[in-house]
Amino acid sequence: MSYIKDNIMDIEKEIQEICHRMGRAPKEVQLIAVTKTIDTERIREAIVHGITDVGENKVQEILSKYDGVKNVRWHMIGHLQTNKVKYIIDKVQLIHSLDRFHLAEEINKRAKQINRIMDVLVQVNIAQEETKFGIDAKNVYEFIEQIRGLEHIRIQGLMAMAPFVDDPEEVRIYFRKMKQLFDEIKERNIPGVEMKYLSMGMTNDYKVAIEEGSNMIRIGTGIFGKRNYQK
Ligand SMILES: *Cc1c(COP(=O)(O)O)cnc(C)c1O
Repeated sequence: MSYIKDNIMDIEKEIQEICHRMGRAPKEVQLIAVTKTIDTERIREAIVHGITDVGENKVQEILSKYDGVKNVRWHMIGHLQTNKVKYIIDKVQLIHSLDRFHLAEEINKRAKQINRIMDVLVQVNIAQEETKFGIDAKNVYEFIEQIRGLEHIRIQGLMAMAPFVDDPEEVRIYFRKMKQLFDEIKERNIPGVEMKYLSMGMTNDYKVAIEEGSNMIRIGTGIFGKRNYQK
């Protein structure tokens, strides 16, 4: 499975090159290995080669792999059903997919029960796609206003998925819009809201995302190869 090591090294090299070119510190870009459909053996292999953070988009997959994968931070990056929050509240470091008030309330409630504060990112549907989850950019302030009083969640930034296109240059505009929104919110210094993470960029578009200011990239295929959904 040396391909995993080679892929991680290639991506890290890319991150460094882009950051140097942009005058940014490479270590400010956090690489999250997206491990959906990937077995624990391959995940452990990735950890051996420097991966510190993994992302899953299904609660069930976090639960089935959790005990087999140690020394890593778990990220919930996919659509989260309210009735499943209780299963992961003690397991994940960051929820990237907060997109509705009811979900925020449930996370707050479950976090309170175990006496923790849950870090969350607000998911933004930046290209207003029917098929994607997330808050429309124009409603983000209102949404933040609604949830920032919940004492057991802490807003740490924004997440977005760009439309799927062949040429990542086509989605540069969306990453740029996200960075503007991120900076605007940051400048307002809203109490209880910290704009620390801008989670955007996947295998196909992460280079453009970093150029536009992303500091958290979520890469699956680029590390583990093409996913096999038949099991
Ligand atoms: C699958 C997934 C990714 C990674 O996609 P790749 O194209 O395999 O890098 C990133 N973010 C989310 C939310 C995902 O579901």
